[in-house]
Amino acid sequence: MLREAALRVTRPRVAVLSAVHAHPHADTDSIIGVVRADLGEVSHQAVYDVLRALTAAGLLRRIEPPGSVARYEARVGDNHHHVVCRSCGVIADVDCAVGTAPCLTASDDHGFAIDEAEVIYWGLCPGCSTALSS
Ligand SMILES: [Zn+2]
Ligand SMILES: [Zn+2]
Repeated sequence: MLREAALRVTRPRVAVLSAVHAHPHADTDSIIGVVRADLGEVSHQAVYDVLRALTAAGLLRRIEPPGSVARYEARVGDNHHHVVCRSCGVIADVDCAVGTAPCLTASDDHGFAIDEAEVIYWGLCPGCSTALSS
């Protein structure tokens, strides 16, 4: 994947990519934790730089729901959406609402060629709604 994106293959890049694969929607701090468990001491800055490079190359997607820190995922390019728990902040993937991207037709596209609709569904996850009702 790194080679296809014309990025040099380095151990931090491979480690960050596989950390995000294994932990979708992880924030930077948890990614740093996983990478350190794998490679030993790696600086925050190094991980930030790798996350930025991989996101710019289209290998990672950065999402930032309001009220949350930035999170990263390796599922890119399919215009999927997210459902976020208002209480604990857990995030899950939701496929395109209807078929293919952008999956929502703007009432007025203002002449733009629209390729993405960013939708966040908000609610309570099963764990939190159970805790509330008991
Ligand atoms: Zn929750
Ligand atoms: Zn996702």
